[in-house]
Amino acid sequence: MSYAEIVEEQKTYFNSKVTLDLNYRIKALSQLKETIKTFERDIFQALKDDLNKSEFESYSSEVGVILQEISFTLKQLRRWAKPTKAKTPITHLGSRSYIYPEPYGVSLIIAPWNYPFQLCLAPLIGAIAAGNCAVIKPSELTPHTANIVGQIIQRTFPEDYITVINGGVEVSQDLLSLPFDKIFFTGSTRVGKIVMKQASEHLVPTTLELGGKSPCIVHEDANLKLAAKRIAWGKFLNAGQTCIAPDYLYVHQSVKEEFLSYLKEAIEELYGKEPLKNEDYTRIVNEEHFERLSSFIDDHTVCMGGKRSKDQLMIEPTVLTPVTWEDSIMKEEIFGPILPVLEFRELSEVIHNLNNQAHPLALYLFSNEHDVQEWLVNETSFGGGCINDTVYHFASSHLPFGGVGASGMGAYHGKASFETFSHQKSVLKQTVLFDLPFRYPNIKNGLNKL
Ligand code: NAD
Repeated sequence: MSYAEIVEEQKTYFNSKVTLDLNYRIKALSQLKETIKTFERDIFQALKDDLNKSEFESYSSEVGVILQEISFTLKQLRRWAKPTKAKTPITHLGSRSYIYPEPYGVSLIIAPWNYPFQLCLAPLIGAIAAGNCAVIKPSELTPHTANIVGQIIQRTFPEDYITVINGGVEVSQDLLSLPFDKIFFTGSTRVGKIVMKQASEHLVPTTLELGGKSPCIVHEDANLKLAAKRIAWGKFLNAGQTCIAPDYLYVHQSVKEEFLSYLKEAIEELYGKEPLKNEDYTRIVNEEHFERLSSFIDDHTVCMGGKRSKDQLMIEPTVLTPVTWEDSIMKEEIFGPILPVLEFRELSEVIHNLNNQAHPLALYLFSNEHDVQEWLVNETSFGGGCINDTVYHFASSHLPFGGVGASGMGAYHGKASFETFSHQKSVLKQTVLFDLPFRYPNIKNGLNKL
């Protein structure tokens, strides 16, 4: 069957209205959860084969996140899907106002390789919850996981409801040329622009979950030891191949040396003295990215780490300093286990420099001072973030997750996922008991008789 025929069949399925039934959606999510549990060991193996992910990381950042998100959605879905009453202005006397969420129809989900299981299925939960059909296009760079995602979907759903289409750039472009009703794209800012251009052909509503350089600021009053541990975790998780990993550090000059000594301890505590021999350390996705990341190490002053193994495609947790805004590593998203460290004297200098950059997907600040926290949050724009932590905001179903500006548009997770895949249909229910004359021309004031 051609891709166009698959989409056509899904449109027919959607138009049959079966997905409008809430019980149908609830059953679909429950079945998805059960199949994922059945395939748990295969998912771990696929993630090991694709990226050398440990079982711990595979569960905590991929499978567990999805199971939790499905459970959360199952608990809330009946409430989210109800039409909600809105206020009615005095000018509309006699009428009542409602908002009905309705599914868009057939959605296209395009996913990247860095969390290849989670980033295919997290949007799918929203698509199902809102009553859509879906085509998923996993990343071609993580073929084992793409294959398991395909098996899970095939085992759980008929193809005209939800299906997986595997392939690379060409397949992705072919799919983007079709008249989907919703596109949910996760990937780079560069490809996000291509997706949006293609989506404009059919005026398809589009959510873009993109990347960027997420700063992490360590102020002089921070709890340095704790900050070092939480930063080391968030940065080197998945070998730095995390869209919301701290891309670079901005540390107050007066505490930089002390902080770096804690950071060294934290890295050793998490990955051992020889991370390249750690069987649980994630590898770089392919040789091209390995070479790209290696050149950053070659071009800068290494403060910690720096060793690599081309055979294993592994790079030690690496810290670079001194670094300036003019250095090559500050010109693009790093997306690997390399952490440049800049220093500052005044927070106003940090804010000024951040506001000269594209809006990042995440921002992290380590400071115990309430005024400093509020100042930074209010003076800068970013997708989301944490105060005194890194990455953790991602794992809350209560917080909408998404970027702003170059880091994306739209958000998902929890209720935001349901809303992302729904059109909000506004309906005014007008009284027929009387008719206010003010809006009509040439009619005297007062109530008109019907
Ligand atoms: P990518 O943009 O290269 O690819 C993403 C998807 O788009 C893949 O499925 C790929 O096949 C497809 N694709 C690639 N080129 C295409 C083209 N020219 N036309 C149409 N489709 C195309 O991204 P990636 O390398 O897989 O992932 C890394 C990027 O994703 C990073 O920038 C990272 O920050 C970002 N990311 C963002 C989030 C988020 O939630 N915001 C999550 C993970 C990754």
